[in-house]
Amino acid sequence: MEVVVCKFGGSSVADAERIRNIREVVRLDPRRRFVVVSAPGKRQKSDKKITDLLYLCHELAAQGLDIDEPFHLIRERYLKIARELEVELNVDKLLADLDKQIRAGVSLDFVASRGEYLCARIVADFFQAQFVEAADHITINDEGLVVEKSYKSLASVLSGESIYVIPGFYGADSEGEIKTFSRGGSDITGAIVARAVGAAVYENWTDVSGFLMSDPNIVVSPKPMRTVTYREIRELAYMGANVFHEEAIFPVSREKIPINIRNTHYPNDPGTMIVHHRDTKDRVVVGIAGKIGFSIIFVEKLLMNRQVGFGRRLFSILEAHGISFEHAPSGIDTMSVIVSDSQLKGKAQRVLEDVKKQLEPDRAEITSGFALIATVGEGMAYRPGIAARLFTALANAGINIRIIDQGSSEINIIVGVETADFENAVRAIYQAFC
Ligand code: ASP
Repeated sequence: MEVVVCKFGGSSVADAERIRNIREVVRLDPRRRFVVVSAPGKRQKSDKKITDLLYLCHELAAQGLDIDEPFHLIRERYLKIARELEVELNVDKLLADLDKQIRAGVSLDFVASRGEYLCARIVADFFQAQFVEAADHITINDEGLVVEKSYKSLASVLSGESIYVIPGFYGADSEGEIKTFSRGGSDITGAIVARAVGAAVYENWTDVSGFLMSDPNIVVSPKPMRTVTYREIRELAYMGANVFHEEAIFPVSREKIPINIRNTHYPNDPGTMIVHHRDTKDRVVVGIAGKIGFSIIFVEKLLMNRQVGFGRRLFSILEAHGISFEHAPSGIDTMSVIVSDSQLKGKAQRVLEDVKKQLEPDRAEITSGFALIATVGEGMAYRPGIAARLFTALANAGINIRIIDQGSSEINIIVGVETADFENAVRAIYQAFC
């Protein structure tokens, strides 16, 4: 029989009522046998996430300061949930142990992981399901990536007929010490479990009904994104559209397991399906995403095109300053390298000096204040007229395009505009394609 992995995010396990709600979601489909949970998130805007409070406790303890206040908030949250769900688990004792451990100076990763650990223990008890300790099966290497043997290990422990609850966000290093993924990493755990059990679908339950075709803070009521490919979602995530941890795509895309982003408040909404392949006939462009905060390093040198190694030398200057770049559109005698301001911060002047000294250009300058906008869709490849439509839309809106970059994969067209034009540009492109 087919099985489904459901990952529930922090807002879906934020209090007892929401945990009751996710039990209903799981009960609605007998294929939903593997449940991965985050730590309780915010119940309302002003609330604190449990993970943030845990990080705070660790920081205070590390400085020899009192953890009473934040720990009290953590304690109250879990005790209230446990009480209202009437679980048998001795949550009070688990919290007392954690309090002692934090004061004794356990590692940051250990402390952070307890949010998911306690949540999964409570949920398993409430569901009368089996708790599976992620650290016993998921090994994470020094680069923060999952070690291959984890899949086999999980598959063997998850092979029974029951419902299993697995805490998200962490595993262990090769020595068996608790290690977390980066923030939002429960999505990765869900994807790992989905691959391990060969799930028919990896359901990622959040508090929104999937992705929207653009940012609702910029475009009024953007349309929902029904189907999108793994490649498209990676491009959009990179450019700032975030609902889902981008590293969580790899374990499932390898096995072509679709990811379904769903809303726990509206369990009947179909949400967004992230798939290996989609029919691009019905939709050429799936989404428009963008970010502000970029600078351009511009270098001009006559006959640059004949100088072997010019590009390499320019990039090695960036490398020496520890700067990674985004794009590098070039002309015959010019090269522009686009870098995010956060990468350049405090280094711009020195980079420019090195460029002038080492490359002896006719002109070199760094200009800041750019925004990049990616228009993404697999349907763009081999289809004439897409770029024309995009540029016409921007021209009609009176927006000057400063950078154009189309990757050779033809899955996106990136334009750079001045920061002041950013939102108008996104709206103009949205109207042209969506
Ligand atoms: N609780 C962790 C965080 O807040 C991981 C997660 O929720 O996915 O980042």
